[in-house]
Amino acid sequence: MTLLASLTTTAYQGRFADFDGSVHERELSTGEADALISSALFDEDEVVPATDRSGALTLVRVIEDQEGRELRRTVTLTPPRSPQLSGAQYAQLADVRAWEEFHPEGGSVDAEGGVVMRFVRLSPTVARRLVARGWLLVTSGPGREAVTVSYAGRVAMALREHRTQATVVASDGPAPGGLSEYLGGGHVFVGSCFCGWRTEVAFESRSLAQGHAATHRGEELVRALGWEVSEGVG
Ligand SMILES: [Zn+2]
Repeated sequence: MTLLASLTTTAYQGRFADFDGSVHERELSTGEADALISSALFDEDEVVPATDRSGALTLVRVIEDQEGRELRRTVTLTPPRSPQLSGAQYAQLADVRAWEEFHPEGGSVDAEGGVVMRFVRLSPTVARRLVARGWLLVTSGPGREAVTVSYAGRVAMALREHRTQATVVASDGPAPGGLSEYLGGGHVFVGSCFCGWRTEVAFESRSLAQGHAATHRGEELVRALGWEVSEGVG
C-alpha cells in the first residue's frame, strides 16, 4: 500500500438518528462516507445538501412499520471544516473529475504517491493535501490504487462553482424594465451566481434574493451528487 492510500482522513462527522429513536455520532473516513452516500442515492433515500456553505449533507430514509406508521432514519454528515477550495485546488479536482468522465475507475497512484491521468499528474504533495481534506478518495484494488473525487470533493467543487450573492440593482431613479412596482424610492435586489445564473425578478429584500440564490445553489449541489448515479453506478 502506498503512503497515499494509508492516509487516514475524517471526511465527515456523522450523526445517526435511527428508526428506533436512538442517536449516536461517529467520524467517517472518506471511503465510509462515500459508501454511505452512494448507497443512499442508489436506494433513493432523500439526500439533502445544507443550504449554507457548510458542505453538510443529510440522508433521510423513511419506512413504514407494521401498523403503517412512518419511521425515519436521519444521517447528518458534517465536514470537520467548511470546504473552501482555492482556485488551484479546484483545478486539480477538476482534472481528476474530467478524467473520470471517460475513465470512471479514476487516476492511478504512481510509485512516488502522485496521481497520474495520462498527461496530467498531481504531485505527491498536492495529492496528499486533497486526500487529507477528504476531497479525493483512494481505493485499493488488485494491482493498483485508484483515485477519484469523493462526494465531499464534489460538494466542495459545486460550492465554488456556485458562489451566490444578492446585489442592489436599483435605488431611487428610474426602474429597470418590469421592476417599477417594487420601487418605492428604496432598493431592490437580485440574486446571482458565479455560474451566470440570476433571479428572473428583483426582490424588495436582500434576504429574499439570498433565499432564491441559496435554493439555486442547493439544486446544483444535488446535481453534483447525482451525476454518476444517473449513469448507473451504485
Ligand atoms: Zn450557480
